[in-house]
Formats: sequence, C-alpha cells, structure tokens
Amino acid sequence: MELIVLGAAPAYTDRAGSAASSYLLRAGDGPGRSGGAALLLDLGQGAFANLASTLEPSSLTAVLVSHLHPDHFIDLVPLRHYLKWEFDPPRRVRVLAPAGLADRLDALDGQFGFAAAALDVEGLAVGIHSFGPFDVTVRRVSHTDESYAFRVSMAVPDARRQQAAMGATSRTVGNQAGAAGPESEAAGAAGPESEAAGAAGPESEAAGPAGPESEAAGPAGLVYSGDCSRVEDLVPLIRPGDTLLSEASFGAGPVAPGAQHLTSADAARAASTGRAARLLLTHMLSGRSRTDILAAAQAAFAGPVQLLTEGDRFEI
Ligand SMILES: [Zn+2]
Repeated sequence: MELIVLGAAPAYTDRAGSAASSYLLRAGDGPGRSGGAALLLDLGQGAFANLASTLEPSSLTAVLVSHLHPDHFIDLVPLRHYLKWEFDPPRRVRVLAPAGLADRLDALDGQFGFAAAALDVEGLAVGIHSFGPFDVTVRRVSHTDESYAFRVSMAVPDARRQQAAMGATSRTVGNQAGAAGPESEAAGAAGPESEAAGAAGPESEAAGPAGPESEAAGPAGLVYSGDCSRVEDLVPLIRPGDTLLSEASFGAGPVAPGAQHLTSADAARAASTGRAARLLLTHMLSGRSRTDILAAAQAAFAGPVQLLTEGDRFEI
C-alpha cells in the first residue's frame, strides 16, 4: 500500500502551505481503477484540498478519526459540503470516530442532521477491523478521553490469520510475554524476546484477544499514533518491520505542562522498542528546530527517521 501525506501540521504552524493531520493509504491501483481502495486517517484543517486533488473524495473506503480535536477532523466539513452539493443525489462516505463527532459537526453549522446529510458516522471500537483490503487494529491511547492509534496493513487470507491467531494463543499460554507475541520467535538469535516482553510490561491490557499479535504472519504495516502521550501506548501496536508514523508535537521537547503529547525521542523509543523499520515524524508545532528533532530521534532509534511534509509518499 502507498502512504500519501495530505497534512503533516499540528494545531497551529507558521509553515506556509501546510495542512493539519491527514494521511491517505491507497491499495491496488487506486479508487476508480481496478481493485483500488483508499483509507483516510484524520482530516485536519486545510487537508481537504490536498485530498480532493489526489483522488475523488467520494471514492474513499472510509475515514478514521483518531480523536476529536479539530486539527484531526475539522475538514470533514468541506468533505460533507462536497458530497452534498457536488452530486445529486448526495454521495456518502463512512466515517469512524470517537463518540460525539456528528453532534460536534452539527453544532458547527447550528443544524441538526448537518453531518448525516452526507457522512455515515459510526463509533470506533478497539480491536481488528476490515475496511476493503485493509486490516486496521484500533487501540486506545492516552490523549483525550477517547483517543486512538491505528495499525493498518493489507488484509491476509483467513487461513493465515487463523494460523497466526492460534500461534499467538499457544504462545501466550506458553510464557508470560503476552503482547510480545509470536513474532519474537521469528526474530531469531538476537534475543529480542526479552526486549519484547519488557515492552509489553505492565500494559497487560495490550495482550487482549484482539491484539495485533494475532496478525504475526501478516505483511508489514503502518502504525499511526494519532495524538498520544505515552510511549507504552504505542509499542503493543508495532510489529517488527512496520513503519511508525508518530506525532512529535513538541519536537525535541520538553512537552508543555498539561499537554498530552510525545517528543521525537519518545517516538523514537517506541520505534526502537517495537523494532519498527522506519520512523516518520509529524505534527510539529511552530518554532521547533527540525535539526534538534531529528537528532533527538536518531539518538534513540537506529533506523531511518524522516520529518514529514505534505506531498510525501511512501511504499509501506
Ligand atoms: Zn489532539
């Protein structure tokens, strides 16, 4: 699948031409062509134009909203207008989000039913979900009262999924590594098993039955942090070889008192502990030195690190 960065900015920035959080994942030949599908993670301010200039927005398989801060969802308003006024009858797009999104959109326009005119809004639930050819693991993270991080990968056939799930089950019974999962077996003699078990740590909730370890046999994926304040929240989502796309709102730090965010070093620690193949940093506030952000991340993660800007594309 291909990752296209539509918006890499946070709540505010002085970076001209930027747009806030929005990441498009495309599979196959793209919507409108054979076998194509597209999943959108967040749609912050200014990102709709980047979306609409990349693909026809009504062809989206679904939009996933990580949490209800405006820099992650506010351009659902232009998406709604586009779907309602550009087509007769209006087209519709499926939107999965924390509770209350439709009410907030309705309140913006002072009109009950504003969102429902073109958006099919549903709640998000922790676990593994299928959206067309994509498998998405949804996990709660510490930020707002209801915030999520996502792991997206291409779906694996049911037989492989069952096999992986069985492996994970016997593994969990066999030792107490829990969320470390069976991938540590495949990692060979480098001794990552104890690392992985440590990473699972006190977050025993991470080892839930719908945890990502059941996808051990699947392809590498993309883990998106949303907004998050704890490294421990992200690690259980990351499988060896994944790409970690993480916020680093306060750059190299420190995080302002009371703000629920990560530094670039925090994101790098998550990437390192989860044995990610690559770290993509995003969502940096104005005035943070890109050189310092990069240096702090590279001190904690040995793999490649990149600071994102709109238009960046990656093969995942
Ligand atoms: Zn936020």
